[in-house]
Amino acid sequence: MASTMIVVKVGGSAGIQYDLVCEDIATQVQAGRQVILVHGGSHEMDVISEKLGKPPRVLTSPQGYTSRYTDSETLDIFAMVYAGKMNTRIVERLQMRGVNAIGLSGIDGRLLEGPRKATVRAVENGHQIIVRDDYTGKVEKVNTALLRMLLEAGYTPVITPPACSTEGEAINVDGDRAAAMIASAMGARQLVILSNVPGLLRHFPDESTLIPHIRYAELEQSLTFAEGRMKKKVLGASEAIAGGVAQVVFTDARIAQPIQAALDGKGTVIEK
Ligand code: ADP
Repeated sequence: MASTMIVVKVGGSAGIQYDLVCEDIATQVQAGRQVILVHGGSHEMDVISEKLGKPPRVLTSPQGYTSRYTDSETLDIFAMVYAGKMNTRIVERLQMRGVNAIGLSGIDGRLLEGPRKATVRAVENGHQIIVRDDYTGKVEKVNTALLRMLLEAGYTPVITPPACSTEGEAINVDGDRAAAMIASAMGARQLVILSNVPGLLRHFPDESTLIPHIRYAELEQSLTFAEGRMKKKVLGASEAIAGGVAQVVFTDARIAQPIQAALDGKGTVIEK
C-alpha cells in the first residue's frame, strides 16, 4: 500500500493553479494511487489580513528562517483563511472532479501535533528580540491511524495548518515541514512539493538556473541558494529523506499535470 501512496504539498503563493493541481490529483486517484494533499495559503492570508487591517508581520530567526508572527488575532484570521476558505475551495475542486476529499486541519483529531514554542527569537533592525505571544510550533507527531482509516475508506485527505499543541492549542506550523512529517510517518515513497517556481533555482529568479538533481548529502550546501521561504522547503525535504522518504520533488504548480511531471522527474529531484 505504502508504495502507491504519495504526499503532495501545494503552496499558497500567488500564481498557483489549484484547478490544474486538483485535476491531476483526480487522475492519480482514479489510477489507484492514494494521495494525501497538504496545502498552504500564504498569499491569500496576506491579502485578507491587509483587508482586515492587520497587515502581516514576518519574523526572521537568527539563522535566517522567516515565519509569520501569529498572535491570537492572527490565528483567528489564519483559521478563517487556511482551514476555512482555502481548505473548503480545494475540497470543492476535488469533489467536482469525483474525488471524495475530506478537509482536516491539524488540530482535528490531533492530526498534526507538536510543542508550542514558549518564546521565539527574532532579529529586527539588527537587534535580537524575544516574542512571547506567538502561537507557533513544530509538528512532531502525526495521527497516522486517522489518515489510514480515511484512506482505507476511500477518502482523500486535504490537510492544512494549524496544528495542535501538546496542550491542545491551535498553533501555526510550517506546511512544508508538516508535509515532510506526514510523508515519513505514513511511509510514503515520494513527497511532491508544488510551488510557483519550477524548482530550486541556483540564481533565483532566473528559471534557466533550475537545479535538476540534488543528493541528500549536498542539501546543506543547497540551502545557500534558497532565500526566504524556500529555505523551509529545503529543510522539509531534508527532514523527509532523513525520515525514510525515498524522493522529494519540487515542481511548478503553474503547469498542467504537475504531479505527473514531478513523478516523471521534472523539477528538482532530491534523493539519498
Ligand atoms: P509556497 O507558498 O508555494 O509554499 P513559498 O512562497 O513558501 O511557496 O516558497 C517559494 C518561493 O521561494 C518562490 O516563490 C520564490 O519567491 C522563493 N525562492 C527563494 N529562493 C529561491 C530559489 N533559490 N529557488 C526557487 N525559489 C526561491
